[in-house]
Amino acid sequence: MAFVTRFAPSPTGYLHRGHAYSALAAYTAAREAGGRFLLRIEDIDITRSRPEYEAAILEDLSWLGLSWESPVRRQSEHLADYHAAIETLRERGLVYRCFKTRKEIDIGRAPHEPAVPYVGGPLPADEEAERLARGEAFAWRLSLAAARETLGGFETLTFIEEGAGPGGETGLIQARPETAGDIVLARKDVGVAYHLAVVHDDALQGVTHVVRGADLFEAAHIQRLLQALLGLPTPVYRHHGLLVGPDGKRYAKRDKAQTLQELRTAGALPGTLRKELGFA
Ligand code: GLU
Repeated sequence: MAFVTRFAPSPTGYLHRGHAYSALAAYTAAREAGGRFLLRIEDIDITRSRPEYEAAILEDLSWLGLSWESPVRRQSEHLADYHAAIETLRERGLVYRCFKTRKEIDIGRAPHEPAVPYVGGPLPADEEAERLARGEAFAWRLSLAAARETLGGFETLTFIEEGAGPGGETGLIQARPETAGDIVLARKDVGVAYHLAVVHDDALQGVTHVVRGADLFEAAHIQRLLQALLGLPTPVYRHHGLLVGPDGKRYAKRDKAQTLQELRTAGALPGTLRKELGFA
């Protein structure tokens, strides 16, 4: 069976050890299966992506000893594809315009309470027309109710997990897209959101196995629904555990974890890092 996997970083910061682990896990899986390894730059968030981060990603990965197929798909160059996918969903009544701000949605929520998944629906036509005429910004949200009706329920939505979710979930998993509410498919500021672009590109690029961190396990539940609605194949998922630092906390951009770039300039050797992360 063909094996195609990818590493799909967002160039919104420098890579750290956690990313190195993820990239090496995908790369090694492809090597072991005699398959293909792709690199995809997920730079649709124009408010946070920067060319210098993308350049550093390429340098870091080469330094680590990885190689990938070219051309590298850069999502910002394919926005029309994502908009076309949203349009097909719109024509089928599966998405609606949401004018609410995060603040409006969160009204009454105490700061310590988790965000409640948003479930709504389209505005009455006249109100919507009025708001559009006023030039008000809106996001496209996927209607769970419409999706459920189209598919006749979500029971048939399953995926294979060859790794494990954060709670040890493995094997045949029943997707629970409803826990995320009506997700945003196109953001007000950016025009497309993460889930749609990932699902579209994984299918387009023939990705058979998604190897990534368990922090994205919940995303698979939503992505499974989008695959069903768009008639796209479902890859096998292999979520891996997240690397923790010496303080027991996971590496994350926001924690100012030491970046691969810093390691490189401090004279670290790629072989040493690979070994430290458990790769030969
Ligand atoms: N671009 C996403 C991120 O950097 C990863 C997407 C994926 O692997 O599905 O978090």
